[in-house]
Amino acid sequence: MPELPEVETVMRGLRPVLEGHQIAHVTLRRSGLRFPFPLRFADRLAGKRIDTLWRRAKYILASLDSGEILLIHLGMTGRFTVIEGGRPKNLGEFYFETAAAEVGEGLHDHVALTLENGTRIIYTDPRRFGVMDLFPEAEAESHKLLRGIGLEPLGNAFDAAYLAERFKGKAAPLKAALLDQRIIAGLGNIYVCEALHRAGLSPRRKAGTMLRKRGHDPRLDDLVRHIREVLAEAILAGGSTLQDFAHTDGSAGAFQQRFLVYDREGQPCMRCGQAIERLVQSGRSTFYCRHCQR
Ligand code: ZN
Repeated sequence: MPELPEVETVMRGLRPVLEGHQIAHVTLRRSGLRFPFPLRFADRLAGKRIDTLWRRAKYILASLDSGEILLIHLGMTGRFTVIEGGRPKNLGEFYFETAAAEVGEGLHDHVALTLENGTRIIYTDPRRFGVMDLFPEAEAESHKLLRGIGLEPLGNAFDAAYLAERFKGKAAPLKAALLDQRIIAGLGNIYVCEALHRAGLSPRRKAGTMLRKRGHDPRLDDLVRHIREVLAEAILAGGSTLQDFAHTDGSAGAFQQRFLVYDREGQPCMRCGQAIERLVQSGRSTFYCRHCQR
């Protein structure tokens, strides 16, 4: 499943292709993905210019000159291919290489946008858990998928004081609190495991224990710094390249090789040499070092 760094990488790849360009026409090969496409979806997009492309949590958002927002979620297996001058261009190193003739005609190529300059953008999604929606800008805050989402972990407002406020009185484990999308937008399992290891904090510790009589445990500042760093490094590496995001030649992605704990059960901790352990918390695997993380 694409996590925040993959979504950011895709958004950054699409930005120069889409921003400032007009959508000439849209081809829909089915009636919807996870949900049905909005009413008259293709007609409402045709002729509109994409002014800005941005990301909120794991959603890619395109602000159109019509005053509407096109929302895209990649689901489990969604990806984009850009075809410029008849040649497909991969967005990020984790994309499948596809022969030019096949792109856009495949069984799983559900949506095709053609821009006024002839560039085509194909959305492919074998498992169809992706989402596309179109709604007025004024509804962005109240949209069912966007309302109540917490702060962006890479945004300026995200700091230890904010986390301390949100962790007040929380008996939930730190791991669960950090995965709570109402607190932090788009932060996923891999990056929570990695940031907790870097900060030396146990995923099992109660979130509320990070507070002090005045202020908070200074390790909360470290945690915020590590969350930002681990995400920034993964974005720089072009995403984590897991499962459906693997190269066709099977080689692993750049950031995956840098995981300190994730998917390393039984292997030695890079810091202390003790075995990395795995436990299941709210249905998700947590990887951590019992010795280094307290
Ligand atoms: Zn260790």
